[in-house]
Amino acid sequence: MIIDGKAADAQDGRLIDVENPATRQVIAQVPRGGEADVDRAVRAAAKAFESWREVPPRDRGRLLMKIADAVEAEIEPIARTVALETGNAIRTQARGEMKVTADVFRYFGGLASEAKGETIPLGENMLCYTRREPIGVVGGIVPWNMPVGLGTLKIAMSVAVGNTLVLKAAEDAPLGLLRVAEICQQFLPPGVLNLITGFGEEAGAALARHPLVRKLSFTGSTEVGKLIMHAAADRIVPVSLELGGKSPAIVFPDANDDKTVDGVITGMRFTRQGQSCTAGSRLFLHRDIFDSFLEKVTAKLSKLKIGDPLDEATDMGAIINRKQFDRVCSYIKDGLGQKEGRVLIGGLPPKDGPLAQGYFVQPTVFAGVANDWRIAREEIFGPVMVAIPWDDEREAIRMANDSHYGLAAYVWTRDITKALRTAHAIESGWVQVNQGGGQMPGMSYGGFKQSGIGREYSLEGMLDGFTQRKCVTVNLQ
Ligand code: ADP
Repeated sequence: MIIDGKAADAQDGRLIDVENPATRQVIAQVPRGGEADVDRAVRAAAKAFESWREVPPRDRGRLLMKIADAVEAEIEPIARTVALETGNAIRTQARGEMKVTADVFRYFGGLASEAKGETIPLGENMLCYTRREPIGVVGGIVPWNMPVGLGTLKIAMSVAVGNTLVLKAAEDAPLGLLRVAEICQQFLPPGVLNLITGFGEEAGAALARHPLVRKLSFTGSTEVGKLIMHAAADRIVPVSLELGGKSPAIVFPDANDDKTVDGVITGMRFTRQGQSCTAGSRLFLHRDIFDSFLEKVTAKLSKLKIGDPLDEATDMGAIINRKQFDRVCSYIKDGLGQKEGRVLIGGLPPKDGPLAQGYFVQPTVFAGVANDWRIAREEIFGPVMVAIPWDDEREAIRMANDSHYGLAAYVWTRDITKALRTAHAIESGWVQVNQGGGQMPGMSYGGFKQSGIGREYSLEGMLDGFTQRKCVTVNLQ
């Protein structure tokens, strides 16, 4: 771990194994941080805050730019580490994640001096203005599915505006983020960024309830998000939560083409094994194109190469761990057990052969699914998509919105009126029209309903989530 600028073991010396999900072999061990380690880290961050908040914003930004350059120089080795620990394929995922990581440092470095205030016109004899001040120690907790990119986002937004940070890495994929945090230490004063490794119920929970943490920023499951929000409520600290999703992709009859098929596959994040909170996992297809569109989807999916994440030819790697693998399989079993359900491609993973060496699951598509089935309602976090037909636009929107989640959505049609009408009617924080790609710095990203609270990834997200407004009123008479 990294505490107060130095490498640190857990106080009690305990360790966690990090497994390569493609081979099920242990590739490293990291400290199993606990309450005492979190406390040390938070105290170091609180001490560093006193001087870090006074560093001129442009200087803070310049340091982030230097970190961006240093990370960029190491994209390849860190991407290999990320591929090894997550099972994500290097060509389709891990390398891209590292490029985004460098970009995020650079983007927020450039925005560091944009934490501007306002003046309020209260009359000639009154000067009233606001300042955007840092909040203090931020407690950040990140998941394993994009471990370095999401961790970096919390680091960059926090420190750009003068906060300090204790970040809890995901227990399944801490290695890439550890290396990035190590690079940061070459540029940031000790204590500004502290990185803890450990389990959620131990290190994560200790961080969420620590009295010196003044802001919580969490990305992970809705279930744990609720615990974080409770911990925040106990001390009245601001919290941002980026949680799960079960995002709809609505395809109109005029979009029965290859570009849409490719976009739907990208939107479902099949090449991340579906392990993305924005995965467009509910495919609502107009009945007229239902069969022909799905034929094209399955034809393309059958060509995806599954296997060794480090092989440049691989499109799709492994599921992160045994627990998730079993969970995904139990959803597939559930789908296979439904009488009306039809599996068009994929299904349960092979029990022998090379793919049985790791947690590999083939891309799986179910048709004949009703919107109230478990596989259509719950977030599977695996490469499993359900296809549901619709006849009427309003019916499609009603089904799309019939979910306790509201993170992302995809609309496919060449008719701009229909596209925008649908985009506006969908209850989700992010709607993409005729594309299925990932978030980019600058977008205010976050969810409606139980997909979260607060927005991150943008200037506004940084200002609203990582600074607090102070109003100063001066009597000039
Ligand atoms: P995922 O399904 O992606 O693993 P989780 O919500 O379980 O999602 O985990 C996301 C992050 O939250 C991880 O870093 C994990 O260690 C942490 N975490 C899990 N449980 C808790 C908890 N009770 N308190 C704080 N953090 C937790």
